[in-house]
Amino acid sequence: MTQETLKIAVQKSGRLYEGSMQLLKECGIEISNGNNQLRVLSGNFPVEIFFLRDDDIPEYVQDAVADIGFVGQNVVNEKNKQVQVIEKLGFGKCRLSLAVPKNGPLQSVNDLNGKKIATSYPVILAAFLKEKNISSSIHEISGSVEIAPRIGLADAICDLVSSGSTLFTNELKEIETILSSEAVLVSNKELSTSKKIILESLLFRIRAVRKAKNNKYVLLNAPNNKLESICKLLPGMKSPTILPLAEPGWSSVHSVISESDFWNVIEQLKAAGAQGILIIPIEKMVM
Ligand code: ATP
Ligand code: MG
Repeated sequence: MTQETLKIAVQKSGRLYEGSMQLLKECGIEISNGNNQLRVLSGNFPVEIFFLRDDDIPEYVQDAVADIGFVGQNVVNEKNKQVQVIEKLGFGKCRLSLAVPKNGPLQSVNDLNGKKIATSYPVILAAFLKEKNISSSIHEISGSVEIAPRIGLADAICDLVSSGSTLFTNELKEIETILSSEAVLVSNKELSTSKKIILESLLFRIRAVRKAKNNKYVLLNAPNNKLESICKLLPGMKSPTILPLAEPGWSSVHSVISESDFWNVIEQLKAAGAQGILIIPIEKMVM
């Protein structure tokens, strides 16, 4: 009997391709897509990758053509298919925003009443406008949304933004964020038991990789009389590891800090008397 595989839908090319392949690689899953195939089996993990257009991924996962998929939360919300969002993946971060001409009369969401908005996200936009009790006409276009106001196609746009440089170049300004998005793992709602087992094992790896990315290993030297105040700054996994140094009166302290507190904690450590502070990336982290 051949072993069952979990079928994973990944964007064939585009903004989520690199992040998706990188994540699989960091999970130790080998995929060779050398010949630009649409379907590739991993050599060392029971998964099969399907390369698809991102718009099609929610439907394919709903219909069990693929078991799971890596796709933007924005596409999940827009397509509104019967899939389960299992995990945020931490890449492909962007927001769906309303933007208007920088020097025009429109200033806020309420000014959009009776106006025309161009977007590739009519479903999300309609729900937002309804909730805010605003009635605008939605003009659906599939690409180059940002030029719509300039060519007289619309008064405003609703589009994905990451750095904001496309808006800037097109003399548009953001007036409201409708949705914050990132790549997520979606799953078919009725996976077989054996596929669930593979998914659990994949999720275990994904979480270890993501946890490691959000944390750094810190190694520093501290005079023994300052150890207590330095250790208070370091939460660590349980508590910091403290080892005596060859030089009398000094210790080496090892700990883990989260990326978000990073700069703040480093400054405080230095001020508290820590020396020779090394920050080391963590490859995997299993709690
Ligand atoms: P496909 O050919 O697969 O349909 P696409 O052109 O629709 O691709 P991309 O532009 O590759 O899609 O974007 C894929 C996803 O990347 C988006 O749905 C979104 O989740 C995410 N993303 C992150 N930053 C941005 C951004 N600045 N603009 C657009 N999408 C972004
Ligand atoms: Mg698309």
